[in-house]
Amino acid sequence: MTPPMHPPPADNAPDALLDLVPFGETEPMALAVMAANLQAVASLSTRIRAARPLPVDAFIASRHQFDAVKIVTALGKEVHGAPLRMGVLPRDLCIPILTHVYGESQLGGRAAVISFHRLQHIDRQITYQRGAKIALHESGHLLGLEHCREPGCLMRFSKQLDQLDLLPMRFCSACEYEIARLLKKTVRNRL
Ligand SMILES: [Zn+2]
Ligand SMILES: [Zn+2]
Repeated sequence: MTPPMHPPPADNAPDALLDLVPFGETEPMALAVMAANLQAVASLSTRIRAARPLPVDAFIASRHQFDAVKIVTALGKEVHGAPLRMGVLPRDLCIPILTHVYGESQLGGRAAVISFHRLQHIDRQITYQRGAKIALHESGHLLGLEHCREPGCLMRFSKQLDQLDLLPMRFCSACEYEIARLLKKTVRNRL
């Protein structure tokens, strides 16, 4: 007896809007906290994908860092996966004009990447919260949001970690409204 024919399992589950793509080793708990906050704070249905090896072709040996733009560009070009993708690296990221970045996004595009390298704290809960805040900030850019001047908003630019630590896990009401609007647009465009 032949088994009934089923379509292959969908790689792109319709409910997942964002794929978290770990490169190298990232603590599962850090990814789980990130996904939970993307879901709860930005209403982004998030799926954690299988870990991949570090993207060696994006490694800049002279700087001992990974090229954030190169990773984002490659992720954005991938055909399969959720409409939005966010790479997560345990290693340091940079862009040519800056010594380092916590994260990098295509503004209103498909892909972003964040790094846990500089987020480490002896209290793991603080490390996880930092990761979630950076992920939320980059997801805002990914949806098309620019930086915000509101003191208590995650879209505020944080140069230092102590500034990031002071931010609550939320967007200001104006950014929240924009995110909801852009999210609807993103969902509509994918239908
Ligand atoms: Zn930013
Ligand atoms: Zn704001």
